[in-house]
Amino acid sequence: MEDCIFCKIVAGQIPSDIVYRDDRVIAFKDINPATEIHLLIIPKEHIAYLTDLKEQQASLIGHMILVANKLARQNGIDEKGFRVVINVGDAGGQVVKHLHIHLLGGKRLKQTIG
Ligand code: 5GP
Ligand code: ZN
Repeated sequence: MEDCIFCKIVAGQIPSDIVYRDDRVIAFKDINPATEIHLLIIPKEHIAYLTDLKEQQASLIGHMILVANKLARQNGIDEKGFRVVINVGDAGGQVVKHLHIHLLGGKRLKQTIG
């Protein structure tokens, strides 16, 4: 989608540190990491909000979660624990309007829900 920064990353039009790619998703390092390990997992197709997902896309979001697991394993944080976050809409703190999962870990995270 035009003017979507994450679509431009998918298309290779803006540089990013890509750590994983397959036919449906890519994952890359967050440009402004909130903690030691901060990766973003996104669908290649433009889906703005989690709430836009259709029943036929259930396997896509499932796949994104499994990629988060795989990357947690690869980064050695699967056993000690990590966090996955999906911000949805303005009140949910979503700035980039292209669905993404934050994978956060490395050190103990604060309890910041709410
Ligand atoms: P949101 O607040 O929408 O859930 O999170 C968007 C995330 O994308 C933020 O953590 C922000 O640092 C990251 N981000 C925004 N623009 C870019 C970019 O151009 N490249 C990368 N790698 N990350 C970005
Ligand atoms: Zn997009």
